[in-house]
Formats: sequence, C-alpha cells, structure tokens
Amino acid sequence: MSRVAYVNGRYVPHRQARVHIEDRGYQFADGVYEVIAVSGGALVDPGPHLDRLERSLRELRIAMPMTRAALSCVIGETIRRNDVVDGIIYIQMTRGAAPRDHAFPARAETQVVMTSRRSKPHPRAYDEDGVKAITVPDIRWARCDIKSISLLPNVLAKQSAREVGAYEAMFVAADGTVTEGSSTNAWIVTAAGELVTRAPTSEILSGITRSAVMDIAAEEGLRLVERPFSVTEAKAAREVFITSTTAFVMPVTQIDEAVIANGKSGSISRKLRARYAAHMAAAGASVDGASQRRTL
Ligand code: PMP
Repeated sequence: MSRVAYVNGRYVPHRQARVHIEDRGYQFADGVYEVIAVSGGALVDPGPHLDRLERSLRELRIAMPMTRAALSCVIGETIRRNDVVDGIIYIQMTRGAAPRDHAFPARAETQVVMTSRRSKPHPRAYDEDGVKAITVPDIRWARCDIKSISLLPNVLAKQSAREVGAYEAMFVAADGTVTEGSSTNAWIVTAAGELVTRAPTSEILSGITRSAVMDIAAEEGLRLVERPFSVTEAKAAREVFITSTTAFVMPVTQIDEAVIANGKSGSISRKLRARYAAHMAAAGASVDGASQRRTL
C-alpha cells in the first residue's frame, strides 16, 4: 500500500507531497508539531496532544487553521488512508508561505501537513537491558515548553548519541542538572525509592507520556517529586528511565561511562513500562477500529 500525506487540504501520494520554498517552516523553522501514537487503530491520549498543539500555536501567535473537530477528521483520515494500526501520526503547522521577512507576514495562512506511518514493536531486550544514554550541554533556547519544529540542538544531540551507539542524549543545564532528553523526558528513582522528574517549566517540553506516567505512578502509590536532579545524582540513582510517545517508558541502564545500579532495568521502570503498554493497548481496545474518529 502506497503512503499518503495530507498537505493543506489535499491527500497526496507521499512521494509527491510538497510545500512552497517560502514556507516559513522551511525558512525560519516558524512552526509547531505534534506526534501522537496510534495503538490498535486508535490514538493514544489525543485530547492532551491537541491541547498542547493549540497551546504551542497560541504561544507563537500562529492561527489554528481549522476547528478541532475538522482537525480530528483529517487525523483519522490520514491514519486510515495509510492503513496504520500501530504507529504514529505527525502533524506540522507553520505560519504560512510569504516573501522572506523575519517579521510576521500581514496575511499568513497556517500551513498544515500530516503524515502517518507504522512502527515496529520495540526489541524485547529493552524491557530488561534498557538503553544507553549520553550527556550533552543544553544549548537550546528558553522556551522549550513550545513544541517548535526548530530542533537543531536536538538533532545534533541525537546524532551524537547514535554515533556512540546510545539511544538518547540527555541535555545538561549550566548548573549540572538534567533538563530532559533530546526527544524524551528524564526520570530517576532515588535510593529512598522516590520518583523524581523535572517540573514542567519553560526549560522542558511537558510530555504527554510524562503526564500519563505521573497518573500511573500515583495509582501505584509511588512517591513522586517534581524537581531538578543532577547528572551525578542520575548516575548514582537506583533507576533511570525516559518517557515519550515513541520510547514509551524506556529504562536507561548506562549514562556516559556510568552503569546504573546493576546494569539491568529496575523494578519500578519495568512496572511503569508494563503499565504504560497497557494504557496504550486500552486506547485500541476502546474502539472497533473502523471508527477511530470517535476517540478524538
Ligand atoms: N521532550 C522533548 C524535547 C521531546 O521532543 C519529546 C517528544 N515529543 C518529549 C520530551 C516527550 O513528549 P511526549 O511524551 O509528549 O512525546
């Protein structure tokens, strides 16, 4: 089955999908995006993702191009046309195409692009062995709460990780604290058994997976503290894990040269990973597959 992209009101073959060279997303990274997981044909936590999309647009004063109901229809249709049961939908909105000038164009029409693709299940080894992470200086701007398509520091960080066989790069602020991963939120479990993750300030993206995992942790009766933690604290922690729409709950068993605990994923990371997998599966179980729109 050939892939289909949504581009400004039209469904087009993926390989022919194009935007104008003066799209401000292309020239200035003047736009925002969302990635939502599709599980069993249904979206996982669509409400919070679309809330965050609307917030990102508002913060950058980019007009929402359509009603949420219309947006939901397009999302459902893009997934359906690509026959995606387990995968992701990518939604990108930019300020529009206009003659190049840094200031906003007088009349800008928000440009909308969507793609959807299947994803493979994670290797089983992740459950027990977890993954490696490296640390890199956080060289990003002061509004990391906006899910902007301006991702160059994240791109460079992830590439550094890949080059040494690591899964993720963790950003470290000037004060030695971990802000978040290049595309994930970061967590530790302390020796006292406390779950720690940074509070959702403008220094990090407020992850939708992070919120879901906070709810699960509360149900599990875990003690959760939202505060910064240092790289030194993370390396000495009982457990470390990261969360995102595509990593789910991913145990981290090595940071730089430091092996975390015994080098295997810890019991809390495993528990939360399993509970989050059930949370995703529940999204798929709640619909009959043919009518994903009802979940939006
Ligand atoms: N932080 C950053 C920088 C990210 O790019 C992402 C992935 N979008 C996350 C955190 C995790 O967010 P979510 O759980 O909503 O995917």
